[in-house]
Amino acid sequence: MAKRSKKAAKKVVSRKAPMRGTAKRSAGKFVYFFGTGKAEGNRHMKDTLGGKGSGLAEMTNAGLPVPPGFTISTDACNLYYKLGGKVPPAVDAEIALHVKRLEKAAGATLGSTENPLLVSVRSGAKFSMPGMMDTILNLGLNDAAVEGLKRRTSNGRFAYDSYRRFMQMFGSVVLEIPKSAFEHEFEVVKKARGVSLDTELDEAALGEVVEKYKAVVRKHSGKPFPQDPNDQLNMARNAVFRSWHNPRAKEYRRIYDIPDAIGTAVNVQMMVFGNTGDRSGTGVGFTRNPATGAKEFFGEFLINAQGEDVVAGIRTPQPISELARVMPKAYAQLRQITTRLEKHYKDIQDFEFTIQDDRLYMLQTRSGKRTGYAAVIIATDLVKERLVTPKEALLLVDPEALSQLLAPGFDPKEWKSITAATRGLPASPGAACGQVVFTSDEAVKWSDQGKPVILVRRETVPDDIHGMWVSQGVLTATGGMTSHAAVVGRQMGKPSIVGAGELAIDEHGKTFTVKGQTVREGDWVAFDGLTGEVKIAKVSSQPSEILQVMAGKMKTADSDIFGRFNQLLTWADKFRRLGVRANADQPDQAELAYKFGARGIGLCRTEHMFFGEGRIPIVQRMILADNEADRRAALAELLPMQREDFYGVFKAMHGTPVTIRTIDPPLHEFLPKREDLMVEIAIMEATGKSGRSLEEKKTLLARVEQLHEFNPMLGHRGVRLGITYPEITEMQARAIMEAACQLNREGLKVVPEIMIPLVGLVKELRDQKVIVDRVAAEVMKEQKIKIKYLVGTMIEVPRGAVTADEVATEAQFFSFGTNDLTQMTFGFSRDDVGKFLRVYQDKKILDKDPFATLDAEGVGQLVAMGVEKGRKTRADLKVGICGEHGGDPSSVHFFHKVGLDYVSASPYRVPVARLAAAQAALSVKVGD
Ligand code: PEP
Ligand code: MG
Repeated sequence: MAKRSKKAAKKVVSRKAPMRGTAKRSAGKFVYFFGTGKAEGNRHMKDTLGGKGSGLAEMTNAGLPVPPGFTISTDACNLYYKLGGKVPPAVDAEIALHVKRLEKAAGATLGSTENPLLVSVRSGAKFSMPGMMDTILNLGLNDAAVEGLKRRTSNGRFAYDSYRRFMQMFGSVVLEIPKSAFEHEFEVVKKARGVSLDTELDEAALGEVVEKYKAVVRKHSGKPFPQDPNDQLNMARNAVFRSWHNPRAKEYRRIYDIPDAIGTAVNVQMMVFGNTGDRSGTGVGFTRNPATGAKEFFGEFLINAQGEDVVAGIRTPQPISELARVMPKAYAQLRQITTRLEKHYKDIQDFEFTIQDDRLYMLQTRSGKRTGYAAVIIATDLVKERLVTPKEALLLVDPEALSQLLAPGFDPKEWKSITAATRGLPASPGAACGQVVFTSDEAVKWSDQGKPVILVRRETVPDDIHGMWVSQGVLTATGGMTSHAAVVGRQMGKPSIVGAGELAIDEHGKTFTVKGQTVREGDWVAFDGLTGEVKIAKVSSQPSEILQVMAGKMKTADSDIFGRFNQLLTWADKFRRLGVRANADQPDQAELAYKFGARGIGLCRTEHMFFGEGRIPIVQRMILADNEADRRAALAELLPMQREDFYGVFKAMHGTPVTIRTIDPPLHEFLPKREDLMVEIAIMEATGKSGRSLEEKKTLLARVEQLHEFNPMLGHRGVRLGITYPEITEMQARAIMEAACQLNREGLKVVPEIMIPLVGLVKELRDQKVIVDRVAAEVMKEQKIKIKYLVGTMIEVPRGAVTADEVATEAQFFSFGTNDLTQMTFGFSRDDVGKFLRVYQDKKILDKDPFATLDAEGVGQLVAMGVEKGRKTRADLKVGICGEHGGDPSSVHFFHKVGLDYVSASPYRVPVARLAAAQAALSVKVGD
């Protein structure tokens, strides 16, 4: 054990030791020591040591009371996989050497009958993956060492309880023996002794359990329980490496986009015991409230408990304020240390500690996971407290957090009118309402059927990750604010209530009862994750506070969160280089986008306007026309409507640039479905109906059949429509120019950007540009006003990107349509990819959905090529992107790097894009 007196430890803690260092990774080194005030690693070495390892090293260097140990690097893990599940002898030797160093630092020896060293073996990847991988505690115990532990602690019961816990953990995690085999034997002994609680078993009984466990191990593994602590250590290390690929860890990485290739580190650390009696305990906490962001010391602990007991949610722990009462000295030291850690890391810290016989040990510190709401509160508070600059604050908020803030809440009147059935701990804020299910598999099944579900569990375990992901909210009966459900719920931004102790859950019977009321699977439940109230009802929700302020339904001054949201985005605007526009087709959408900070429209899909009220019959007439004159007559009817649309959108954007795209989808999309028409005609004929309406239906069917395409996405759409029906382009160009002229006359300077979709050949664009220029000249002459306008194109066909230098001879701007560009580059139909994408991801053929996150290596190269070639021809070419990727943070980083001028996202993603663009500007350079 690291022998340092309490006084000495305190002195070092209060010393303002600078915690510095660089990411020094030594070639050929796989094991990094920490202990007795010095560590070989530091905070910058997360890639090599994982988050936990680098935190332990950093705290050790700062003189904090950390039990000594060593970290086996992520490189060793990757080597283990490369060698087909083996660690090379050189790494084994390096570990053995570090075991000796650890024994020296600890003043204890593995397997000793006098003073045995016990260690914990824990996973720790670069990104925290709470509870997803395996941990083994009390390693080093064997038949001899258990006697040593008994001697050292003068506590035989404690020694044998530790041994049986170790055997059980090692047996299930390392030897992969079902837990139930051990649990069964444990119950047998308890029954024989006539006791119901584990704590009622004495030393002799626990000794008996140990013997029974040995038999279990021999029966299932065919070998005796390994007695050599070095064998135990190597086996445990390999098991932790293996757990990197267990199903729940894989699922977690998929959800959070964590690469498989980074591997996990393994931390081997001297055990300290929180379970030696009433002067001991273990706990976890945060320097601020991770659910609400409030500046309050926040955490939980359990007296006389070990390791995972708190996180596992099996016993409901006590709030940390209670520690101030029962162990004031340890509490004060903990506050002092954690405050210092927060200042040092410049972020909320999530820590683990153990108190052994009144002495405090720090076991972990890392940046705390927080809800989107808390992220915004904490970042803006830290700036107010001058702990970070606005620039640093921007990097503390995940852009996705901003979309959590826009999620709906309950209608307050309706919510108040319903009595709460019970209350739990408010683990993750948000309004959740759905139908109750009791297992994660059911949650997935129901949600696949389009039903909103609330997952109700006694407690969640890491295997519940898939069910939690699809649920509207998670409700548990046990566990504290740092239990698995709470931690994961917050991270997912999933409303969660934990520890609702009044719920009596019968998972088999698929019911729960609360205050005499029985709730069955499928019944509606609603809860508020900010207050902890649970109601047995279906409650409607209402827009978030931020949207209410934007809609003028709430005063800006009355909404604290709105002020902070705005502040953060104002800072983001100062640092970002990329412009942010919105994809919007209607004036109200454009207005909302403007309020969200979009300064321009990157894509106005004009065809969406054709679906407006009363327009479809006119559009259908235009399509059904079998001669140009009739087609022109229908288009003339559409013209004033389109002009009005464009006028509204221009006006809503206050003179910022607006890109309007000419018609894109195949015409049959505006006609009824072929099958529906056939049925209608058959019914009419069968019921003896004849005459004009039957004839009209038959004509319609004939045209639908004529327009039928086998591959409509690669068919008669985009510029191809404009080329075959130039009068459509004419009408749209006229509507755009007339609206723009009118606004310019009214004093609003509008520069329309007319965009031709799906261009692959420069001649296609030329054909359309001639029409637009001609119509523009006509309109300006008629209106006696000259205005500036641009004609450009979407780059969404690979040939367009490859010949961008030629296309730019005609195009005054480019906008990458990365939806179609992804579709055509991969040859994946964007409407059908869902049928096999999951399998591709499971098999690691694809990491991410390329329609959500830009495929930088493939599609991205076409974008980069398009930008470079386009600007070679026209140096001032304005280049943007208007595919869905414009609102995806990692894609935004890519667009920043390749030097785009702006990204365009759907209105609700505009805040996300603003923050992501600032983060990109702060972390990567254009051209990197
Ligand atoms: C695109 O293809 O990326 C695009 C924005 O156009 P649409 O989604 O309308 O095809
Ligand atoms: Mg497209």
